[in-house]
Amino acid sequence: MWAGTPKKFQIAHSISKRQADWFQCTAEHLMAAAEGGADSPANIVAACKFCNSMRHRAKRPLAPDSYKAKVRRRLDLGRWLRLTKNMSPEV
Ligand SMILES: [Zn+2]
Repeated sequence: MWAGTPKKFQIAHSISKRQADWFQCTAEHLMAAAEGGADSPANIVAACKFCNSMRHRAKRPLAPDSYKAKVRRRLDLGRWLRLTKNMSPEV
């Protein structure tokens, strides 16, 4: 993830600005605000823009611990987000 400007991240990973935009650091509610999640430090974590915008879109969103485990499994396999040319992330 990056904060501030994506340029260094973009160069380090040889990706386009559009692709790098998905990895911007955001503040994510573990329990969504729409589901009653509080704006408190205990309910807010750092998450990339992709995770923040996509996790709650699933039919049955994973609980925070399950989502974290999913991310770790994919990172261990060296394939978190597979980026396509037109940047339709596949997870
Ligand atoms: Zn993420």
